[in-house]
Amino acid sequence: MSAKPLHRGRGLGWVFLVLLFVACGGKKPQPVTQPQAPVVVPTFDADSAYHYTAQQVAFGPRVPNTEAHVSCGDWLEGELERFGAQVTAQRVTLRAYDGTILAARNIIGSYKPELKKRVLLCAHWDSRPWADADPDPKYHRTPILGANDGASGVGVLLEVARQLQAQPTQIGVDIIFFDAEDYGTHAEEKESTGSNTWCLGSQYWARVPHMADYNARYGILLDMVGGKDARFHREGYSDYFAKPIVDKVWAAAQACGYGQWFLHADGGVITDDHLPINQFARIPCIDIIGHYPETGFSPTWHTMDDTMDNIDPAVLRAVGQTVLQVIYSEK
Ligand SMILES: [Zn+2]
Repeated sequence: MSAKPLHRGRGLGWVFLVLLFVACGGKKPQPVTQPQAPVVVPTFDADSAYHYTAQQVAFGPRVPNTEAHVSCGDWLEGELERFGAQVTAQRVTLRAYDGTILAARNIIGSYKPELKKRVLLCAHWDSRPWADADPDPKYHRTPILGANDGASGVGVLLEVARQLQAQPTQIGVDIIFFDAEDYGTHAEEKESTGSNTWCLGSQYWARVPHMADYNARYGILLDMVGGKDARFHREGYSDYFAKPIVDKVWAAAQACGYGQWFLHADGGVITDDHLPINQFARIPCIDIIGHYPETGFSPTWHTMDDTMDNIDPAVLRAVGQTVLQVIYSEK
């Protein structure tokens, strides 16, 4: 992702359902109330999410056109299948800003594909080809491991997939792993104006979804959701396009005990996969993305330090539990 910060800176009570019954003696139906079970939200297993994150990192950098990328993509499809999703691989060649033709693959796992009521969850699975923000310039052309930047969001969503198999939601859920998010313009080259060189996989999917007339009530993007000391601020495009969804998700965080991680603070404006989903697919989509004091960016962002050593399962848990709270409450 690239950022243009604006300022650099269950307690569900019993729900009563009104039911009608026909009283004996042929009298008029009388309304009665009958308790409906409260929403049971499963417990997110942060150790699983951590493990799925580490498994991606173990492939090495997942840079398009590399063997590690192909192997990891195959593994991701297999995991979604193992967790009971209907899997679609959208294979496409995309042209990077420098002319490189990328063999890209968006991977979609669908639950209850027959339902019209759907929610979209997404993250990018590729990793940055260059550590162009590393303090040491000698690494500026070296690929990164992307433990946080890429793998963490996918790791959380694989754990969500496992939960969806164990306990289905009332609505349909699509999990999309976007490719070629992080092949945007190198920091030492001039960013082109007027075109988004990032988010190539999601830009494609938002124009050509994996099925005709695809729609969802809303989308939630996870990016960099495992970094130590991360907090989550309200991101600018999310508030612009999908403010009610930000409100809903931040309220869910509060409801499941993670309100101190999700702050009603300005997170700046960040170009990420949710942008084309809002602009082209016209599905309101928010970005849950780690925020840090001072620069707004994770200190490991696009550096050689984006490794498992800097992933905190407690952060994965705060995000994962919040996502479960949202989707299991949806009717
Ligand atoms: Zn990135």
